[in-house]
Amino acid sequence: MSENGAGVAAVRRALAEGGFRGELLGAGDEGYDGARSIWNAMVDKRPGLIARAADRDDVVAVVNAARECGTPLAVRAGGHGIIGSAIADEDGVTLDLTLMRGVEVDVETKIVHVQGGCKLGDVDAATAEHGLAVPAGIVSDTGVPGLALGGGIGWLSRKHGLTCDNFVSLEVVTADGEVLEVHEGSHPDLFWALRGGGGNFGVVTRFSFQGYDFGPTMRFGAALYHEEEARAALREYAAIYPSLPNVVGWHVAMKRAMPGLPFVPDELVGTPMVMLFCMWLDDPESQEGVEMVERLLAVGDPAVTGSAVIPFGLGMQRFLDAEFPDGLRNYTKEAHLKELSEGAIDALVDFWAEGLGAGTTIEGELAIYGLGGVAREVGEMESAFSNRDSLWWINWANHWHDAVDDDTNMDIIRASYKRLEPWVGKGVYVNMLNVDELDRVVEAYGGPEKYARLGLVKAKYDPTNLFRMNHNIKPTAAAETA
Ligand SMILES: Cc1cc2nc3c(=O)[nH]c(=O)nc-3n(C[C@H](O)[C@H](O)[C@H](O)COP(=O)(O)OP(=O)(O)OC[C@H]3O[C@@H](n4cnc5c(N)ncnc54)[C@H](O)[C@@H]3O)c2cc1C
Repeated sequence: MSENGAGVAAVRRALAEGGFRGELLGAGDEGYDGARSIWNAMVDKRPGLIARAADRDDVVAVVNAARECGTPLAVRAGGHGIIGSAIADEDGVTLDLTLMRGVEVDVETKIVHVQGGCKLGDVDAATAEHGLAVPAGIVSDTGVPGLALGGGIGWLSRKHGLTCDNFVSLEVVTADGEVLEVHEGSHPDLFWALRGGGGNFGVVTRFSFQGYDFGPTMRFGAALYHEEEARAALREYAAIYPSLPNVVGWHVAMKRAMPGLPFVPDELVGTPMVMLFCMWLDDPESQEGVEMVERLLAVGDPAVTGSAVIPFGLGMQRFLDAEFPDGLRNYTKEAHLKELSEGAIDALVDFWAEGLGAGTTIEGELAIYGLGGVAREVGEMESAFSNRDSLWWINWANHWHDAVDDDTNMDIIRASYKRLEPWVGKGVYVNMLNVDELDRVVEAYGGPEKYARLGLVKAKYDPTNLFRMNHNIKPTAAAETA
């Protein structure tokens, strides 16, 4: 047995002998292949061991065993991280939290307690029952932990901030196996770092979030444009967006093949369309909301418009699920835009119309997420999450089916990013940072000064960098920052 294999075997033995209550899966065990698969089929790793924790004590046992045996450790929740850091290599152990998916809602305080392996859909289902919502992302299969620890943007960000802005407290298993309750008044340095610093500081076994009265329904409107009308509509969008109140969300999805959503006539299904969609994030029946949605649907010359009051947690939050299935070859990119100028609009529309067009196998969409609002009001040094200024975040959410197309398609997407560069602002969202952008990790964490501060927190709670399979923050000695 190799030295590495010996480490993994020692971890397995220690867990089995120590009364591990979850599941231990190695190559050849039933369920191993399913357990090593994640959303992005480009990631095809074979961890030495997958330890599926049943509870917090199991998590502590895995952390202790990996540390003591010197074995690389990856942490997995929803498995939606693009780079596949949730899955260890052959010499390592994946600590898998997918059995830990309980959610408890305290209806009095509106605080929502979420176990460390939950998906967004688990939280939405539990909160919708009480007319509450926790601000999070837009695809229900995404894991809460990776999303929340890296920031967490979604439909409610303009009204209630990022997911990490709504942490009340967290239960964290640190690298030495200690269980800490972390909040503003307890380990405030760690609390600050967990709000955007990713999985660098420990394993979160429970998140407690501030929930809000929301729904159960929301007012939604969508307008679809053909290519010839798209540029003009986007120019109007760019002019109006900065003046909107925080209770309005307005976003763009440039789709190569329009899905058959309820308001889409049959003849437009499968055709390339630019969709502008707006949300009234307040009382869905208010006259103000009706008028706002009407005003935004009147932009440009749409081929079709539709509006409705729809369920939020169990409707809007699942609206896009079918477009982001598991098992495709996914390549994504993100850019914070400093201005949505005419040149930027042309660059985006050209890529959508040509790069995503006939002759390539690239599928998916180019999205513009309208941000700002409450998410922008938190100061740069108030949380680890960085670069909140940009009003628009561009997301190339692209995929294809065949590995032979990987290089060509990635080159096309990279070229389209390059064309947009003159309008790209500072920073990049750490949760969207891809494998070919690892030179941007310091920038994603806010630049050298903030990265150094995060490094000090890392040195205090994880001095040997046990939690390094992520967008890594290296432990910094105090002298290095002096
Ligand atoms: C289809 C899709 C839709 C998305 N939509 C959004 C969106 O709307 N908004 C948004 O902000 N982002 C979105 N993202 C990006 C998303 O935030 C990241 O991919 C995130 O990493 C997913 O979290 P996960 O738990 O599923 O990841 P995993 O791949 O399971 O884990 C990623 C990393 O998170 C860390 N981690 C996981 N669990 C824990 C834990 N319990 N404790 C400590 N660290 C842990 C580990 O470092 C791990 O390597 C989306 C991604 C996809 C693929």
